[in-house]
Amino acid sequence: LGHRQRQALRSWLRSREAVAGHGRLVVLAGPTAVGKGTVSAFIRENFPEVLLSVSATTRTPRPGEIDGVHYYFLDDERFDAMVAADEFLEWAVVHNQSRYGTPRPPVAAALAEGRSVLLEIDLDGARQVRRAMPEAVLVFLLPPTWEELVRRLVGRGTESAEEQARRLRTATVELAAQDEFDVLVVNDDVERAAREVVDLLAVPRA
Ligand code: 5GP
Repeated sequence: LGHRQRQALRSWLRSREAVAGHGRLVVLAGPTAVGKGTVSAFIRENFPEVLLSVSATTRTPRPGEIDGVHYYFLDDERFDAMVAADEFLEWAVVHNQSRYGTPRPPVAAALAEGRSVLLEIDLDGARQVRRAMPEAVLVFLLPPTWEELVRRLVGRGTESAEEQARRLRTATVELAAQDEFDVLVVNDDVERAAREVVDLLAVPRA
């Protein structure tokens, strides 16, 4: 089977698993600046029944970011304590700098209630979730083109030139891993891309 056919088969199998009325765990990954944040913001606004997991991180907040909303901003000591207590479903060092992790209890609680959960995490984290919860659906968000990805990263102007270069190196590595994912979604139109993700979350259409 070709890659596309394998993908179609896997997503069909996973959509059958959803029929039991259990919540779905969907992982949204993809390179820097591809628009994961915009896609999940659309889902947060239009599909409040989906739990958008709030990650913990050791990086410092950007202007406008709120503790407990965008991330739980933790110091190294508190992050270490959560790792030691096995409170992360997954965690990883991202862009060779800060640590990011998905707190396990809210995800487990939502799934137990039959709610679907969306995680927006990096490639390393997505691989850990695949091992820990093989029933998770792994979605990779793609930019329309490489040039567009660079344009979006530079355009948002939130990173230094050095940080942009680092993120683009990571993006090259992440893009090379897209075949490991169950579904590829091209983010040329945020609403359409978000609706493709929502279909995988198996929530009623808005
Ligand atoms: P940013 O610092 O720009 O908010 O996020 C940087 C990267 O960290 C993004 O690629 C994002 O997907 C990833 N990330 C955010 N939260 C988590 C998490 O809980 N676990 C992992 N593994 N990666 C995360």
